[in-house]
Amino acid sequence: MLTQFTLAEIVDKLAKKEISAREVTEAALARIDAVEDTVKAFVTQTREAALAKAAQIDAKRFNGEEVGPLAGVPMALKDNICTKGIRTTCSSKMLHNFIPPYDATVAELLENAGSILLGKTNLDEFAMGSSTENSAFFTTCNPWDLESVPGGSSGGSAAAVAAEEVFFALGSDTAGSVRQPAAFCGVVGLKPTYGRVSRYGLIPFASSLDQIGSFTKDVRDCALVMNVIAKYDPRDSTSANLAAPDYTTFLDGNVKGLKIGIPKEYFVEGINADVKANVHKAIAVLESLGAVAEEISLPHSEFGIPAYYIIAPAEASSNLARFDGVQYGFQAEADNLQELYEKTRSAGFGPEVKRRIILGTYVLSSDNYDAYFVKALKVRTLIKEDFDKAFAKYDVILTPTTLGLPFKQGAVRDLVSMYLNDICTVPTNMAGLPAISVPCGYVDGLPVGMQLIGKPFAEGTILRVAHAYEQNSGLPKKKPTLTAKGGAVHEKI
Ligand code: GLN
Repeated sequence: MLTQFTLAEIVDKLAKKEISAREVTEAALARIDAVEDTVKAFVTQTREAALAKAAQIDAKRFNGEEVGPLAGVPMALKDNICTKGIRTTCSSKMLHNFIPPYDATVAELLENAGSILLGKTNLDEFAMGSSTENSAFFTTCNPWDLESVPGGSSGGSAAAVAAEEVFFALGSDTAGSVRQPAAFCGVVGLKPTYGRVSRYGLIPFASSLDQIGSFTKDVRDCALVMNVIAKYDPRDSTSANLAAPDYTTFLDGNVKGLKIGIPKEYFVEGINADVKANVHKAIAVLESLGAVAEEISLPHSEFGIPAYYIIAPAEASSNLARFDGVQYGFQAEADNLQELYEKTRSAGFGPEVKRRIILGTYVLSSDNYDAYFVKALKVRTLIKEDFDKAFAKYDVILTPTTLGLPFKQGAVRDLVSMYLNDICTVPTNMAGLPAISVPCGYVDGLPVGMQLIGKPFAEGTILRVAHAYEQNSGLPKKKPTLTAKGGAVHEKI
């Protein structure tokens, strides 16, 4: 089956004309036909447009025209990334019928690189959640255990790559929404430095934390995707006007003398003993390759989650004010304007989104602004300063991606436990740093991820370390079984 190859392998076969874009696209669509009913990664599929684009690419290649670095490679985009003429829902009733009149910059870059969009993937509504259970439509299943969640909020993208429905996918990461689902689905997930990849056309959740990132089968594929999407964009005022390197040049396996900081606060009580053991084994692999690992302290990281649940809802309450039933998407029946706003927002948003809007409005109100919002911003600065100090001495920081394994659908019902899914990932969003999750073991047939955090714009360094580890990890090459693993299937929350 063609779908079992990596992105790099497929690009190579296409370039050598061993296969056509049409064959790859048909293979991916056949795979979707075979598994999508069980995985449920896609909100919308774009099959006809995909086949038309594949034919175009083949014709161009046949005529010897320039086709772009990812020409003919099937992929998917999280459904909060705007696609011109293609429904973009944020997995919300509010946008169930929203068809953007423009492409996000990343969609445009991938289009120009020749990749083929197969569809838009499921997410927690407006990217708020850690399991895709907050999608207004359905919950995506974890391909390693169909009764478990794929993580979130970019669970659809992670599951689509893990189930080999596409060769790569994009997601967005505000506190861990690329890395946590990557860890849960056994794939590679990168959140680049804030500003490295344009956010133009990403429907915003918390703008100072949001960053678009990628899901791939391995680290080389991640570098290939970054080579296309890491680009200055004048349409995003926070985009960095900085040339991006060829990320594949970092994949040389050399980590000799590289200094790795292991923050003790990330191996705390509550961590699954097997997760911890697998991450420690990964550290030993890197040490055997000549890297030097030392324990460090990032004392303010523990305040990451509380500060996030002030800053992110505050920004969300402002960003989501635009959904009023007038400009976009869903509109409730109403007799006057006030009623229109109220009914639209009350029926259009799900419970988690409403909770965040209420919380955000509260912390931004004049009575509470200093006590909560300003204080959270100060905590954010302290978290960033911890990283600055650590990076004066260390090249990368290594942690688990999550403290636990993928959990059963419906099993996590209290909010704080759900929010704690991002405990290891949220500090890097606070500090704007790049971080990658790489598979580092299996426990009871479920994947475990480790996280490598880098200095600002040092994606190359974390890719180098991730690649050196991946090539020497000794992990068995496992693929998900696409079966359930016993126990009751829970209803959607
Ligand atoms: N789980 C976090 C939340 O619910 C993170 C979401 C994200 O990174 N988009 O807000």
